[in-house]
Amino acid sequence: MEKFDLVIIGSGPGGAGAAFKARALGLTVCVVEKRDVGGTCLNRGCIPTKTLLHGANLLRETHEGERYGVNAGDLRFDFAKLIEWKNTVVSSLRQNQSTALTKAGVTMVNGTARVESPGKVSVHAFKENGAAEGGETVLEAAAILIASGTTPALLPIPGHDLPGVYTSDHFLEGDGLFPKRLTIIGGGVIAVEFAAAYSSFGSEVTLLVRSSLLSVMDREIGQTLALQLKKRGVVMYTKARPECIEAKDGALALTLTTEGSGEAKSVTVPADAVLMASGRTPDTNLFAPGCTPEFTAKGFIKSDDNMMSSIPGIYVAGDISGGVQLAHAATAEGEYAAACIAAAVKGGGNKASHAQVIPSCVYTTPEIACAGITAAEAAEKGIPAAAGKGVFGANGKAFLENQERGFIKLVFHAESRALIGAQFFCNRATDIIPWAVQCVGDGTTAEQIERTVFPHPSICETIAAAVSDAVSRGGLK
Ligand SMILES: Cc1cc2nc3c(=O)[nH]c(=O)nc-3n(C[C@H](O)[C@H](O)[C@H](O)COP(=O)(O)OP(=O)(O)OC[C@H]3O[C@@H](n4cnc5c(N)ncnc54)[C@H](O)[C@@H]3O)c2cc1C
Repeated sequence: MEKFDLVIIGSGPGGAGAAFKARALGLTVCVVEKRDVGGTCLNRGCIPTKTLLHGANLLRETHEGERYGVNAGDLRFDFAKLIEWKNTVVSSLRQNQSTALTKAGVTMVNGTARVESPGKVSVHAFKENGAAEGGETVLEAAAILIASGTTPALLPIPGHDLPGVYTSDHFLEGDGLFPKRLTIIGGGVIAVEFAAAYSSFGSEVTLLVRSSLLSVMDREIGQTLALQLKKRGVVMYTKARPECIEAKDGALALTLTTEGSGEAKSVTVPADAVLMASGRTPDTNLFAPGCTPEFTAKGFIKSDDNMMSSIPGIYVAGDISGGVQLAHAATAEGEYAAACIAAAVKGGGNKASHAQVIPSCVYTTPEIACAGITAAEAAEKGIPAAAGKGVFGANGKAFLENQERGFIKLVFHAESRALIGAQFFCNRATDIIPWAVQCVGDGTTAEQIERTVFPHPSICETIAAAVSDAVSRGGLK
């Protein structure tokens, strides 16, 4: 039986973040992975979606290139070529991550792990067809970290198991899918990114949204994005509930009820493919009887301030902990859990602290990125706040790039004048947001931001307009 200080189950951002940190802190580490190194993020999440979106943007920009004197003549789009590139990107990054983990001294084991007891993990190897292969390996560990992530959830409506009903995994793994008529169920980040990509590829996209688009973000973001997607031909049903999917005329017919226009009505949408992007299920089928930690009401693993589950010695990190489901949040949590584990296993105290501000990003065009809280959240929580908004009409960089509608909103604490939230809806928002993450984390004040000189021409010049607006119109004294 091989012995390690730490055995990690899952090699996604949570597991890998923990593995690198634990090695840096001097622990012996083994990572068990049942599928591909890199987890959801690298193989069927962040990286493949952003590759498809990059291709989609290039295609749309080339179509619109006339304004810049770019005329590509008989422009053709070869989906298979884009998939080939996506597969190259994914396999190269997977190989790089695998090499980096091994170089860091992490022992990698391929197979399905099961927690037998607090210090014991068994690993079973499987063939591609799911049949058991070889025997069982048993690993001994001073601590175990569960970073098993989530899998796509299927809405249990009639017809959810028909051929042609898919999850994001089917679209992102292997050869992908390019339906002529695509109906997407969901109004969150995954749904809108697919709607943006496939409408640019030329698919007829219909989006079914339960309440409103990106409902956890500032209201104006969802409203503005809805306008843009509609402009690009996406048909949207809001306050919509899918009722059933049927096979019809060699395709699918999805029946929904919608109250988006006031009165409830029933609509049937024909589709060649239905993408269910309405949530993810925690992957917790990995505990031997008698060794199961406590779960939250939604089935995630409960943990304390040190990321330890209800069973001493068993820790959690990433999506499985039930927090925000983002790769960088998983990495930060994995690193923090590793520091807590190192302190518990080796002693010597723990100087690490939980990441305070986690940015949320959407890779549409323009991009969306948020940090901290919105003005509405501040009002709900009774926090005195003053908000300002900068629009892009006078921003030279945005204009020359032909950026469609966009804005930057900054939310300040009305008394301390510290930045407590920022919402960016503009080109390269995901690259600018770390500025806001740091300001919110550090409590940077309106005066300090006003003193910042922003480069010209640049998208971030509009930050200055948003601060001025918070002072002049938002009532920041
Ligand atoms: C379509 C899509 C797009 C996304 N885009 C973004 C984005 O742009 N930015 C962003 O921040 N986030 C994005 N996410 C979310 C991001 O992928 C997840 O938050 C992140 O992957 C979570 O990391 P994790 O380590 O917790 O779990 P995962 O990445 O899911 O990794 C868990 C790993 O554990 C393995 N595992 C599970 N059970 C066992 C077992 N018993 N034995 C061995 N191995 C096991 C799994 O095979 C998997 O590899 C996206 C997700 C999806 C689905």
